[in-house]
Amino acid sequence: MKIFEHINSVHSFVTEAKTNGKTIGFVPTMGALHRGHISLVEQSIHENDITIASVFVNPTQFNNSSDLEKYPRDFEKDRSMLENIGCSAVFTPSVVEMYPTVDKRVFDFSGIDSIMEGEHRPGHFNGVAQIVSKLFDAIPANNAYFGIKDFQQLAIIKNLVQQLNLPIKIVACDIIREPDGLAMSSRNIRLSAEHRAEASLIYKTLKAAVEKSQELNKQQINQFVEQEISKSELLKLEYFEIVNSSTLTPVVNINDKEEAIGCIAVWANNIRLIDNIIFNF
Ligand code: AMP
Repeated sequence: MKIFEHINSVHSFVTEAKTNGKTIGFVPTMGALHRGHISLVEQSIHENDITIASVFVNPTQFNNSSDLEKYPRDFEKDRSMLENIGCSAVFTPSVVEMYPTVDKRVFDFSGIDSIMEGEHRPGHFNGVAQIVSKLFDAIPANNAYFGIKDFQQLAIIKNLVQQLNLPIKIVACDIIREPDGLAMSSRNIRLSAEHRAEASLIYKTLKAAVEKSQELNKQQINQFVEQEISKSELLKLEYFEIVNSSTLTPVVNINDKEEAIGCIAVWANNIRLIDNIIFNF
C-alpha cells in the first residue's frame, strides 16, 4: 500500500491512474479506524480499480479544542488495517500541508448547516466543507464514500459537490453497529465501561421510537425519546429531531408521506455520540 503525505504526490498518482483508464474510489476519514470505516473502504474496493483512504484529523471542524486534543490517533494501526483489506493507498497529510495559510472560505448551505449538529457545533460544517473541498482537489476521485451515520454531513457534502460542480459521485454507506446496537465511532473507545454499556440505550430508543410512530404524534415521539434517555443517569440528550431526509427541514406532521429520519445527539460524560434512524410511514 502506498503512503502519501503530500498533495502533489497523491494528485499525480490519481491523475496518472485515471489517464490509464482506472477508476478511483476515495474514503476520507479522521483515522482511529473501526469496522464502520472499513466497510466504506471495502465498498470502494469492490466498486473501483483503485481505493485511496485519507487519515487526517481536521482542526477546522472542531469547535471544542479539548475534543480535538483528545481525538484518538493511531496511524500504525490504521495503516495496517487498510493494508490488510487491500486498500491501494493512504493519504496522511500534516496540518500545514492542508492549511499552508488560514482557510477563510465561508460556505453557504442555505440553512441545512444551522440545525442539529450545526446548531450545537457552530462552524463545524464550514470546517468539514473546507477540508472536503481541499481533499477532493488533491484526490480527484470518481467516487467518494461517506457514512449515513453522519447523515447531516452527508447532506452537506452532496450540497458542496453540487455548488462547486465537482465531477465526483457521493456514495452513501450504511451504519455499522456494535452487537448491542451502538453505532461504531472512533470516540467509543474513550467511553468508560459504564458509559459504554449504557450507550446501547441510544439505538434501542431510536428503534422503539420507530415502532411507536404508528400510534404517537411527533411531539409524543419526542417526549418518548426524552423520557427513555433520561432514564439513564449517565446519558444526557442534546437533541432529537425528526427531519425530512432530503431537505433536512423538521417534519411537521409525522403522518405525512415524506421520508423522515430521526437524528439524535447524546452526551455520555464528555463524549458526544450521534446516531439516526429512518422512519418509514
Ligand atoms: P470519521 O473518521 O468519523 O470522520 O468518519 C469517516 C467516515 O466514516 C465518515 O463518512 C463517517 O460517516 C463514516 N463512518 C463513521 N462511523 C461509521 C459507522 N459506524 N458506520 C458506517 N460509516 C461510518
